[in-house]
Amino acid sequence: MDTSKRQIPREQEPSIRANNFEEVSYGFDQDSALCEAERCLNCKNAKCKQGCPVNVDIPTFIQKIKEGDILGAAEVIKKSNNLPAVCGRVCPQESQCEALCIRGLNQKMGGAVAIGALERFVADYSLEHGVVPKRDKDNGKCVAVIGSGPAGLTCAADLAKKGCKVKVYEAFHKAGGVLVYGIPEFRLPKALVQKEIDTLKELGVEIELNVVIGKTIMLDELLAENDAVFIGTGAGLPMFMNVKGENLNGVYSANEYLTRVNLMHAYQSNSATPIVIGERVAVVGAGNVAMDAARTALRMGAKEVHVIYRRSRAEMPAREEEIRHAEEEGIIFDLLTNPVEILGEKKVEGIKCIRMELGEPDKSGRRRPIEIAGSEFVFDADQVIMALGTRPNPLLKRSTPELEVSQRGTIVVREDTLETSIPNVYAGGDAVTGAATVILAMNAGKKAAAAIMEKLNVY
Ligand code: FAD
Ligand code: SF4
Repeated sequence: MDTSKRQIPREQEPSIRANNFEEVSYGFDQDSALCEAERCLNCKNAKCKQGCPVNVDIPTFIQKIKEGDILGAAEVIKKSNNLPAVCGRVCPQESQCEALCIRGLNQKMGGAVAIGALERFVADYSLEHGVVPKRDKDNGKCVAVIGSGPAGLTCAADLAKKGCKVKVYEAFHKAGGVLVYGIPEFRLPKALVQKEIDTLKELGVEIELNVVIGKTIMLDELLAENDAVFIGTGAGLPMFMNVKGENLNGVYSANEYLTRVNLMHAYQSNSATPIVIGERVAVVGAGNVAMDAARTALRMGAKEVHVIYRRSRAEMPAREEEIRHAEEEGIIFDLLTNPVEILGEKKVEGIKCIRMELGEPDKSGRRRPIEIAGSEFVFDADQVIMALGTRPNPLLKRSTPELEVSQRGTIVVREDTLETSIPNVYAGGDAVTGAATVILAMNAGKKAAAAIMEKLNVY
């Protein structure tokens, strides 16, 4: 067993996976997981733990793997993390726990321990072999949760574990939020998300689908029937560039495009909401959402997929692994390039772009992109997918004027408790922060659950 270097999980070959929706990474098998676990030094002052937003006891769960007690490892993780099979796959570990691992900080130690891949291994094992968290006896308190993304599901699970009666209300016909409608199957298999949700149901969490709070049921009705309400409605409203031609046929927001494929199964011939397959697809933006949209378009059958981004590779906000996977699969990156107009009569026929250069850093700390005068050119494309970020949907605010929101439309909360301007109504996740990450949404769900229990005297 060579423990000197970090183990790399096997992946599907790029030329094969570019044509299918199956998961790219196979994850660790038992031998590689054991070998990788042996690399952990079980540090007394484990810095990795400080890098985890939900404070998973990383050295202890890895120790359990070394001892061959995988279900024990799962129990340790599940004390802090209700969705480990999801986090093991999509968390940016390279900038969190793994960034602080002593083995990664010392160049001679073979790289950070692969904490994310180990978490995934343990979570998958426990889903197969069934560890259901325990629930305390009923305490008579009722809480409504709006939205079934990672924030809502985590809040619901923590409250249910303590014996609260919890009902989750979800606008879509499937629970999971971005985990089911946004992140594609080849990164996060939907059957696995469903298994995580089933585990929550076994904890007693009830989920009602196809209910839009603010339309079907009002927030004050929920508040009248419950001791507290948690809002985890995410940030599903896409942003556009506001350039000419953006309303042409063939222009999608990444949210719509991915929802049609992931949730509505547009890739199946009998889908009720099919999608036109672009031949030359341009995806504008360079975050995780842009990578997902570009790689999905490729798998849908596009001949050529370009990512258009106004800065350089160094400033791309997507995870390094996602960029690498996209490059390996043949996505073409047109960097320092920005669209100024989408061309066409009724449908997209091309994009007028301009070349950019980088100036001084802006408020975000990244170098500001500046247009190069006279460098416009026309780029051939028949489909454009805008992946420029999202904002919270204003629906709940419109139907509940007393809910305070910021100028960006995010819900304003007290920092310590996540309580909103309406007493006993709490909020967290993307609805409060704007588009962020799964683990931060989960952390907010945990924090709100703790504050709700304190307010309701549940111990
Ligand atoms: P969401 O997941 O958005 O869930 C909100 C839910 O509330 C939705 O199901 C919505 O239908 C429902 N809802 C909204 N309004 C109402 C209403 N009025 N009534 C009832 N229900 C309502 N993060 C990572 O950490 N790693 C990644 O690799 C990653 N990749 C991503 C890829 C894509 C394509 C996208 C879009 C996001 C990605 N993210 C990633 C971000 C991450 O998924 C989000 O930060 C996270 O899902 C936010 O969780 P949430 O619970 O706040 O909201
Ligand atoms: Fe193990 Fe790295 Fe954490 Fe130390 S810092 S306990 S080596 S994972």
